[in-house]
Amino acid sequence: MVTGPSEMPLTILPPLRDVRPKRSRIAPCYYGDVFSNDAVREAYADNAWRSGITWTYGTTSNGVAQRLLPRGLGVILSFPWEPWTPPGEFAKVLELRPDIGAIDFAGKPVPRRLCPTWALSHFDDWRPELAKLADGLLRDSTYRGVNWDLEEPVVDPPTFCTCERCLAAFAKEAGLSLKAELKPAELLGPHRDAWVAFRCRQNATMLGHLRELFKAAKPDVEVSLYSGYASRYTREHYGVDWPLLAQHLDLGIAGYGYDRANVAATREAMGAKPFLGGEMYYLSPHTDERVPPSGPAEWRNRLVRQYLGSGCRGVLIWWLPTMEGGAFYGTSEAAELIAGEEEFLDGAERVEGRFKVTGLPAGDWHAFRKGGETRVYLLNLKEQAVEATLTGPAGWAAGVRSRGNEGTSAAEGEVVAATLRPFGWLCLTADP
Ligand SMILES: [Zn+2]
Repeated sequence: MVTGPSEMPLTILPPLRDVRPKRSRIAPCYYGDVFSNDAVREAYADNAWRSGITWTYGTTSNGVAQRLLPRGLGVILSFPWEPWTPPGEFAKVLELRPDIGAIDFAGKPVPRRLCPTWALSHFDDWRPELAKLADGLLRDSTYRGVNWDLEEPVVDPPTFCTCERCLAAFAKEAGLSLKAELKPAELLGPHRDAWVAFRCRQNATMLGHLRELFKAAKPDVEVSLYSGYASRYTREHYGVDWPLLAQHLDLGIAGYGYDRANVAATREAMGAKPFLGGEMYYLSPHTDERVPPSGPAEWRNRLVRQYLGSGCRGVLIWWLPTMEGGAFYGTSEAAELIAGEEEFLDGAERVEGRFKVTGLPAGDWHAFRKGGETRVYLLNLKEQAVEATLTGPAGWAAGVRSRGNEGTSAAEGEVVAATLRPFGWLCLTADP
């Protein structure tokens, strides 16, 4: 192989903004240590803090979280329990009792899985082992939150459990009066939606049990769940129906990327409870269909868009070890922007319906109103400048003021025309 010299532009970034939001969370994922050098751990901890990162998701068993806990870092534990697996010593019981194990669509036993219908109707039988796991991790720990990562497919691909117990419970719950015996294949055809709903309800019931165990181990711990955004895909592919889960949750977390309708559906499913959407900083352009940001400004705008779209509580990031200088810098600008807006946005009413906007896709602009003040946030997610126009309520345009140094705006009659620089942002404020 012959390689020649290549040229790369070198960009010297300004110092990180070093502003931390008070209430909002910028929370990258980080589990066990992937760094073995203390100088690297120290640098990541320092960069994270100065980028406005005050929460992480994963564990405290790494050199970054351990350095930041004394400074006030909040950590959400990713609870290490795969759905319906036998916890701890209960694995031995399952080995001796194949009748309580899950069965796949071909009628074969699924290794290391309990039948969900059995598991829920006999929860007390295996509860002690699951409680031991929760207790060991949470009691007297520094975790402020605990999260169940639920991404367990229901029918995509066909998985489990098609045992007689499950089929009978499903038929009863779905109100089917079956003349003939129900065949597993029918669950993927005529009964697909009802079957998915049945499994999603079982997962929601399980979440209720987990909540009890978490709270028993640590009463003030915040209980959350991570999955995909609310959609048919998430119900079928992850077994998660968000509207069923909210009652058992203090916080919802979903991701990744920004799909306006699905982010809004998840936010609405959580009602008044907080929800964090996720953004991916995962630099593998050859193997991952998610395109990495072109630089810090695009990354900042992605974070801010997700923050505004998912309800102004924060953003989950996948994941910390791939974040480099540009990612930290963009994050630090997003954190500074969020820190400046979060007090206004806390309890503000979403008022996109009062505006007509051209030049920006829905979801790349957001409007909120509180205490007689309206703020419209315009985000350019393109590498070209964008011309946008806004038509708002009567009298709005005349009083509009513009903030943000990455665009300009001018009012003409009832219309405000704004020009946004590539990956720029603007906030338009008015009192009426
Ligand atoms: Zn079953």
